[in-house]
Amino acid sequence: MEQENPRTYYERIQAETLSPYAMLSQNSRGRERPLEPCQIRTDFSRDRDRILHCKSFRRLKHKTQVFFSPQGDHYRTRLTHTLEVSQIARTIARALRLNEDLTEAIALGHDLGHTPFGHSGEEMLDTLLPGGFEHNEQSLRVVEKLEYDGQGMNLTYEVRDGIVNHKKDASPCTLEGRVVSIADRIAYVNHDIDDAIRAGVLQERDIPEACTRALGDTHGKRINTMILDVVEQSFSQPYIRMSEPIRERFDELRAFMFENVYHNPIAKSQEQKAERVIEELFNYYRTHAEELTGEYRKYLEIDGPERAAADYIAGMTDNFAVRDYERLFVPKSWMDAGN
Ligand code: MG
Repeated sequence: MEQENPRTYYERIQAETLSPYAMLSQNSRGRERPLEPCQIRTDFSRDRDRILHCKSFRRLKHKTQVFFSPQGDHYRTRLTHTLEVSQIARTIARALRLNEDLTEAIALGHDLGHTPFGHSGEEMLDTLLPGGFEHNEQSLRVVEKLEYDGQGMNLTYEVRDGIVNHKKDASPCTLEGRVVSIADRIAYVNHDIDDAIRAGVLQERDIPEACTRALGDTHGKRINTMILDVVEQSFSQPYIRMSEPIRERFDELRAFMFENVYHNPIAKSQEQKAERVIEELFNYYRTHAEELTGEYRKYLEIDGPERAAADYIAGMTDNFAVRDYERLFVPKSWMDAGN
């Protein structure tokens, strides 16, 4: 008898052991361009690898989460946020016997389209770009069009669906996508509390008492409570959710963070400058589209100069945006001007 290859072995094991609500890779709606299946990896684990190896993924390490270009080594960046989301999502997916490969692929790709300077960069591009800008839609654009030198990564339907629908109130078509969506919120609320305490914006005792009582008084305990609650509520169910009491405290904690951290003057102190950088770069590249290269040039002809400028700027790291702004708008000393 011919030996079974590792991919079909795992597909069989997954079909035998995962929840009936899990998305099996052999049942995927597939890719836009047919691709010879891998001998070793399932389609979803192959997508996870494609995301991990792409350029946009590496750039996440120099993109702001909440605190701009953090000087301290212990603050989250968009990359470490992504890894925390992936870990929380995989823990939940495994406990619910959902497809961990699909979950991980969606988690690693969900923020690929994030702009430099966090949400203030996103909001500024949203104002500037006719038709608006949202990071989840941009993440989809990165994987479908911009990556692989403008060819797109040709990912499976379920991974792309989970990426574009990861925001609160969206409805991804798989439970794995819903796991990532809830893991994203669990991750950022908790690690932003941790970073805000580190930055001196917040103290542990400032957190509303009802939240501490219900969720725990440390970073680890809070994450644990939330994960356990999601698993308990959603096990063997066709949905992913938190219990009412935990969800209420979680929403309260999230509202508290918006009021005290995301809109806090210390965290926001650099925001106007960041917006200015984005605005000036956008206006520059919109009118100098001939300076765009590679994948950005390709979509200039198809989608116009505004869209191409937004793609280019959204792909920049915080550091690159600042350097490019300086290059374009800050006079050099006479000695350096020739370089
Ligand atoms: Mg996220």
